[in-house]
Amino acid sequence: MTILDGKKLAEKVRNELRNDVKKLDHVGLAVVLVGDDEASRLYVSMKKKACEDVGIESIEVKLPNNINEEMLISEIEKLNLDSKVDGILVQLPLPKHINSAKILSLIDPNKDVDGFHPQNVGLLVTGTETGFIPCTPLGVIKLLEEYNISPKGKNSVIVGASNIVGKPVASLLLNRNSTIDICHIYTQDLKAHTLQADILVVGVGKTDLIRGDMVKDGVVVIDIGINKLSNGKIVGDINFDEVSKKASYITPVPGGVGPMTIAMLLQNTVQSAQNKNKRY
Ligand code: NAD
Repeated sequence: MTILDGKKLAEKVRNELRNDVKKLDHVGLAVVLVGDDEASRLYVSMKKKACEDVGIESIEVKLPNNINEEMLISEIEKLNLDSKVDGILVQLPLPKHINSAKILSLIDPNKDVDGFHPQNVGLLVTGTETGFIPCTPLGVIKLLEEYNISPKGKNSVIVGASNIVGKPVASLLLNRNSTIDICHIYTQDLKAHTLQADILVVGVGKTDLIRGDMVKDGVVVIDIGINKLSNGKIVGDINFDEVSKKASYITPVPGGVGPMTIAMLLQNTVQSAQNKNKRY
């Protein structure tokens, strides 16, 4: 069994990006944080630190929880026009009174480094992949590539079907000629599906969702889930001890997909800055 070492690969990507950033006049990522959700604040501070590490200016836009939709839209429009801002990331979830899909659709697609704008989603689904690709799914593909794991002709089972994780992972694997099976909360007999997986990608948010008897020998396992146990320990959705005994490759949590997600955010931001001449 081989560990898919996301921490190591993310460090390699960051080293390359540090050099790319030096060749550019300026690279800026605006992170919009609405409200004071603890997990969101933690994610934003991690992204800020990562930006600083490679020389990207992190521009934090903190807004109150009770901001109305119109005011938030006007903040987004300002960032769309600001030439110092190469990437715009709106930290999700937004408060319930705000229509997240509408906000995401108003970000300039050329600065949409999270890849959630419908234009970028369309470019992914239609297979050209010329727009921005969501960071976690892109990190999954980079990890598979790094370890020369080809999805072509394999059965890929994806558990979790959200717009930010499961669906884009499915599109990326389908674009690479894998056969796709997407499972979600209404899937009956999850085990019958996961047992078919040559590649199993799980992003749900439920500890021990996948046990050893739910996978076949030699499976490649990507665990996207993040769960905090009562003792403070962070684990994924896979029972690592059981599943790693049967897997050929497996991501650890932490140290697998998490660091790759941040590295891909930085990569998308640098890419946007490199495209800048085409915009201004
Ligand atoms: P979400 O709540 O939007 O989606 C969860 C998905 O899981 C849904 O499609 C739902 O139908 C499915 N699901 C729920 N219970 C299920 C069950 N019992 N069996 C099968 N499917 C089930 O969550 P999300 O934003 O997609 O995040 C999923 C997980 O991935 C979370 O733990 C989140 O913290 C983690 N995550 C990690 C990273 C990272 O960088 N590692 C990035 C994003 C999300």
